[in-house]
Amino acid sequence: PAWLGVMGGGQLGRMFAQAAQAMGYQVAVLEPADACPAGQVAQRLVNAGYGDAAGLDALAAQCAAVTTEFENVPADSLSRLAQSVFVAPNAHGVSVAQDRIAEKRFFVDCAPKSGVMPAPHKVIATQADIDAIDDDLLPGILKTVRMGYDGKGQVRVKSRDEVRAAFESMGQVTCLLEKMLPLAYEVSVLTARGHDGESVVYPIAENVHRDGILFTTTVPGPNVSADSALQAQQAAQAIVAELGYVGVLCIEFFVLTDGALVVNEMAPRPHNSGHYTIDACVTSQFAQQVRAMARLPLGDVRQHSPAVMLNLLGDVWFEGDSDTPREPVWNEILALPGANLHLYGKDDPRRARKMGHLTFIAPTLQQAQEQLKAACAILAIDYEAAP
Ligand code: ATP
Ligand code: MG
Ligand code: MG
Repeated sequence: PAWLGVMGGGQLGRMFAQAAQAMGYQVAVLEPADACPAGQVAQRLVNAGYGDAAGLDALAAQCAAVTTEFENVPADSLSRLAQSVFVAPNAHGVSVAQDRIAEKRFFVDCAPKSGVMPAPHKVIATQADIDAIDDDLLPGILKTVRMGYDGKGQVRVKSRDEVRAAFESMGQVTCLLEKMLPLAYEVSVLTARGHDGESVVYPIAENVHRDGILFTTTVPGPNVSADSALQAQQAAQAIVAELGYVGVLCIEFFVLTDGALVVNEMAPRPHNSGHYTIDACVTSQFAQQVRAMARLPLGDVRQHSPAVMLNLLGDVWFEGDSDTPREPVWNEILALPGANLHLYGKDDPRRARKMGHLTFIAPTLQQAQEQLKAACAILAIDYEAAP
C-alpha cells in the first residue's frame, strides 16, 4: 500500500492517520517527541526533528505525498520535501499562516477579492513603535507574531504603558498590536482546495472560546445569519484561491456587534473547530486532507446532522480545583444519545491541555445541545459560565 507522510505527531496527526488508514494508506509521522498521539497509531520516524535533513529525505523517499498537522513546521522543510515528493499544503501557504504580519498583509491585499478586512493593527518591534501607536488602536491585544496558539503569546492592553509592559514581558520579540473589537460571535470556515483548483467549503461553524481556548463549536451556529454565512464562505474561497493553496485550511472570522465581518487568522491544516465533521459530515476534514494531498477527488462536505463539539481539556481529569486526579465517568457520557467520544491517547492530563473532544449529533440542534448540557453536568463543566 502507498504511504502518506505527516509532519507533526499531535492529535491532528493522529486523526489524519486514522482517516488515511481507513482509506488503505500507511502513514509515516515525522515527530521529534518520544511519546505522541500520532505515534501510537502510525509509524514514527525516530529522532527526526522538523528541520532534520536526513529525516526529511527519509520521509520523502518513503511517501507518495506529505502534509503537515503542525503550522509551525519550518517552511524550508516543506520546500526541501517538495523537491522530491508532492507536498500539500506547500511552503508558501504555511509560511503566510505562521507569521501574523505576513498573514495580516495577505488578508489586506486579498480584501478586494474576499470583501473582508482584518482588525486594525500595527507591528510593534521597537520602543519607537510603541510611542507611535495611534490612540484608536487601544484598548487592544498584543500578540506575538509567531508560535502563539490557544491565546498563548497574547496580552490584553488598555494603554500605551500596558503595551510597554507587555512588550517587555514577552522579551521584546516582534509583536502585532490589534484593536480590541466588539465581537457579537465568532465563526470559522473550513475549506479544502484540490491540486486542480477545485474547492469546497464546509458549513460555517460558530465557536465559543473560554480563556483563549476553543470551548464549543456548534453547527449550524445559532447566531449565524444566512448573509454572514454566505459572506464568510465566499471570502474563504477567495482567500484559498488567492493563496494558491492545496489541502484543508480553516479561516477564523469575527462577527461584530454591528454585523460586520472581520477575518482573524487562518490555520493551514485541519482545525479544532472542524472536528465535528468526523461525526456530522459525509467527508471528515481529515479524510478531505487525505484526498487533497493524494490528488483524489474532493469529498462531499454535506452535513447530515446538527452537531455540537465540546473540547475535553485536562481540567476534567481533576477533582474541582484540586490536584486530585480522577477518571471522567465515560460510561455515563456514552449513555447519552448521539455521543461520540474522541480521546487522543495522552496519558498525562494537564489543565488547559486538549485531551480529547466530544461531539453530539441529533436530529435537531436543540436535542444535540441538550445532550451537551447533560454531558457538562456529568463532567462538572460549568456550561452556563460567562465566557
Ligand atoms: P488559536 O488557538 O485559535 O490559534 P491564537 O492564540 O492564535 O488562537 P487568536 O485566535 O488570534 O489567538 O485569538 C484568540 C481569541 O481571542 C479569539 O478567538 C477571540 O476570542 C479573541 N480575540 C483575538 N483577537 C481579537 C480582537 N482583535 N478583538 C477581540 N477579540 C479578539
Ligand atoms: Mg492562531
Ligand atoms: Mg484563533
